[in-house]
Amino acid sequence: MQGNTHIVGGITASLAFAQISNDNPFVLVGAGVLGALLPDICHGGSKIGRTFPLISKMVNKLFGHRSFTHSLLFVVLVALLLQTIIPYPSIVAGLLIGMSSHIILDMGTKQGVKLFFPFNMSVRFPLTTRTGGKVEKIVFTLLSVLSLYLSYELISRFISEI
Ligand SMILES: [Zn+2]
Repeated sequence: MQGNTHIVGGITASLAFAQISNDNPFVLVGAGVLGALLPDICHGGSKIGRTFPLISKMVNKLFGHRSFTHSLLFVVLVALLLQTIIPYPSIVAGLLIGMSSHIILDMGTKQGVKLFFPFNMSVRFPLTTRTGGKVEKIVFTLLSVLSLYLSYELISRFISEI
């Protein structure tokens, strides 16, 4: 999936989580967007790959695309690392939610993801789409509408608490 789809996916997932948690929604969404971009560090042409070209090249050489950085192992390792270096649970939660949303969205592409890395098995949904295709535009639109609805829910909850 493309960067913009991942961004709106990260926003939607963090807003959904914000409905059931007491974390600051702005912190969750900010961290969620960053987390949603992080797995594509394995791809030099991605937003985050262009920001950190050297790291991106190294990760790509070592693991290839949609491999280690799109796996459960990566999410667990990053979770352990973040918990030790970032003292703000809301930021850690947002980053992990964003990363998970990224991996789930990429499971909707033909290539799938190496979810169980180091096992070399590609995991994808029964229905998949081409990156940048028409279906991805529909997914993008649906996620945008959903995130607007979730924002509306949060705002009305906030107003009713005043
Ligand atoms: Zn990806």
